[in-house]
Amino acid sequence: MDSFTGFGVCLGDIYAARQRIAAIVRRTPLFESSALAGAQGGPVYLKAENLQETGSFKVRGAANRVLSLSAEERARGILAVSTGNHGRAVAFVARMLGIPATICVSKEAAPYKVAAMRELGAEILLHGDSYDEAAEYAVRLQQERGLTMIEPFDDPLVIAGQGTIGLELLEDLPGLRLAVVPLSGGGLIGGIALALKSADPSFRVVGVSQDRAPVMYHSLRAGHPVHLPEEPTLADALVGGLGVENHYTFPLVRQYVDDVVLVSETEIAAAMAFALEKQHLVVEGGGAVALAALLAGKVSTSGEKTAVVLSGGNVEVGKLVKVWQNS
Ligand SMILES: *Cc1c(COP(=O)(O)O)cnc(C)c1O
Repeated sequence: MDSFTGFGVCLGDIYAARQRIAAIVRRTPLFESSALAGAQGGPVYLKAENLQETGSFKVRGAANRVLSLSAEERARGILAVSTGNHGRAVAFVARMLGIPATICVSKEAAPYKVAAMRELGAEILLHGDSYDEAAEYAVRLQQERGLTMIEPFDDPLVIAGQGTIGLELLEDLPGLRLAVVPLSGGGLIGGIALALKSADPSFRVVGVSQDRAPVMYHSLRAGHPVHLPEEPTLADALVGGLGVENHYTFPLVRQYVDDVVLVSETEIAAAMAFALEKQHLVVEGGGAVALAALLAGKVSTSGEKTAVVLSGGNVEVGKLVKVWQNS
């Protein structure tokens, strides 16, 4: 499988990740959606990572990375930059393993998510008006304090951890042909695409981003990572750039992701309402973009067996109810 090893991660790393993180993460359920199947003319399954430990898939990659640290690195402590879900995942794993964790968040981060990280005992540092500013601050802090940075997506161990979702899909859905996956930095879709396409290169993998500052979408078009100013969106978990120097996820996504489509705020809201009403699932904006693309007719399944990843469910109930009332 030489063609699947050029990005710092291979299928074997994803299997190794699964063993390493098994005691910390959940194998999440898959729900067949009859409501979606009718509209798509074929079976559609929802992979419920909103029901994952910590409320998003991010704990898979974070656990794989943190469990691979040396004893000395663990003793010095770890650091993460986050819009919320990655920080919560890192704080959760750190608490389980008794490792001191520091999380840098921008002043734009959802207060609900910041509170969850604080409850897990992490030191929270609010700094900067954007994710990128919080990230710059974290790099300084990392050098001053000798902490190990746990990257949210651009790290082979993180990508391998997220790829364990791909293994679960392969095992639980024989005959699967298409996966539709939320996309920001590309760790989630990169890992899933690697797992699926190692098994069968004819799998289709489609990424979905919010239409407000979709950095990977524009980077793919430009042929290199670009920078965009952040914009407020219901999909707050998808906000942020590809990092100053992207090593892994940009080439991985460019190679293995067949298409990237964008969804509007109205379409994201409709998907959150659909998940709540028709599936009785609480899904946050960023977690609902792939579902939104299907509901809006922006991804054609051609009637083939399709999996839609619901990547997270961390949304304040009051906010979800407002979205539902306005939809
Ligand atoms: C982080 C996140 C994503 C995007 O994952 P990437 O690996 O950055 O592409 C999607 N959905 C949710 C809920 C997230 O927290």
